[in-house]
Amino acid sequence: MNAENFGSSERLVAAAYVRQGAQGRRGHELLLRALLEQGKCPEDGWDESTIELFLHELAIMDSNNFLGNCGVGEREGRVASGLVARRHYRLIHGIGRSGDISAVQPKAAGSSLLNKLTNSVVLDIIKLAGVQTVTNCFVVPMATGMSLTLCFLTLRHKRPKAKYVIWPRIDQKSCFKSMITAGFEPVVIENVLEGDELRTDIEAVEAKIKALGAENILCVHSTTSCFAPRVPDRLEELAVICANYDIPHIVNNAYGVQSSKCMHLIQQGARVGRIDAFVQSLDKNFMVPVGGAIIAGFDASFIQEISKMYPGRASASPSLDVLITLLSLGASGYKQLLKERKEMFSYLSSGLKKLADTHNERLLNTPHNPISLAMSLKNLDENNDVAVTQLGSMLFTRQVSGARSLVNGTFSEVKDRMFSHLPSLQLLLLNSNSFTVIRDDAFAGLFHLEYLSPFFLLKMY
Ligand SMILES: *Cc1c(COP(=O)(O)O)cnc(C)c1O
Repeated sequence: MNAENFGSSERLVAAAYVRQGAQGRRGHELLLRALLEQGKCPEDGWDESTIELFLHELAIMDSNNFLGNCGVGEREGRVASGLVARRHYRLIHGIGRSGDISAVQPKAAGSSLLNKLTNSVVLDIIKLAGVQTVTNCFVVPMATGMSLTLCFLTLRHKRPKAKYVIWPRIDQKSCFKSMITAGFEPVVIENVLEGDELRTDIEAVEAKIKALGAENILCVHSTTSCFAPRVPDRLEELAVICANYDIPHIVNNAYGVQSSKCMHLIQQGARVGRIDAFVQSLDKNFMVPVGGAIIAGFDASFIQEISKMYPGRASASPSLDVLITLLSLGASGYKQLLKERKEMFSYLSSGLKKLADTHNERLLNTPHNPISLAMSLKNLDENNDVAVTQLGSMLFTRQVSGARSLVNGTFSEVKDRMFSHLPSLQLLLLNSNSFTVIRDDAFAGLFHLEYLSPFFLLKMY
């Protein structure tokens, strides 16, 4: 309803009542205006009615929703199913144009606006989460591994001689494959054991760079969020090495947005040295369906180059989901979740410590890992791998997902390379990422032992 239509309404309903209605609408519109003017995540979450109003306003700006639109091209935002149209709030055109995922589409002003606003709101949240000097970012409708691939492919043009990626080891397949798929050879740098922690071997990184020659190296590919007993890479030292040898630095920050420590590492790395881009998953950090990531960095033009590498148009769904989520939560709601996760982590840590003590096991001392915990399973049955595997399945049947119980020396194969998961320990690994909810329900019978308290039932949202 605009002013004219409110005026016409007064012929049917008393003017005073219509005025109240107009005032009501104005309340929603002021929120929309603040978002459009500032491009920031609103402090307080919006009501669903405001969000729906906003999405409908965006949708009717797109040509597929123009009344009497006669699309005579091959890509006119046609959908056969009303269910599909509603699932996407009638935003059918996607984002980007053939040359650039961040480009505006003339026939889809609403979708283009959605795309720009999402990137701007997400940038605001990255700052709020601890990387204050980030200058540019974009949501890309691919998960983390493929988004890392896109970063490596962008660097290829800048470093035509480069064949290698220096990669402090992390036993996660998609980050390994992100380099292989881009056509580069990962140079695995083994971590060093310091106390219980597996940490970046800085000397080995530097020695490898010298041995291979800086110009033959595409980049250093480091990792923040990871399973204990590995801890986040020494980002500051790596960033300094990258600056000294003039080598790009790409950071895999898969589930690090929710950890102020991981974000602080990125901020510090960029302050003292070189970080070209950092990549984070949408589902792991923002509680949306799998399918998107954020590529962010400190040099706006490099981030734009990456967005221009993306061939063709792209799905708007990941952008839409994260925008709806952040508008619903508001900055205050997201901050609250970050705070709760931190509290849950110390609760989980102290509870696991008690549990480990009770059973003559050890909670590994991994203070540099702000997200993940590891507990030994030495006495579960030292000579029986089956018991450890069984613990994993017991947790699973008790609806605990996300925990891993690892038998010493398990191997997995990625593209002809064997990965040994961990050194010399049977471990139970628990993460508090993705906003874990810990319920106080004890589970009886786990470990075939007496009732344990406190034990935790972990459940993801
Ligand atoms: C999730 C994750 C990835 C990427 O996985 P995608 O399925 O591509 O999102 C990479 N590295 C780590 C450490 C991860 O946790």
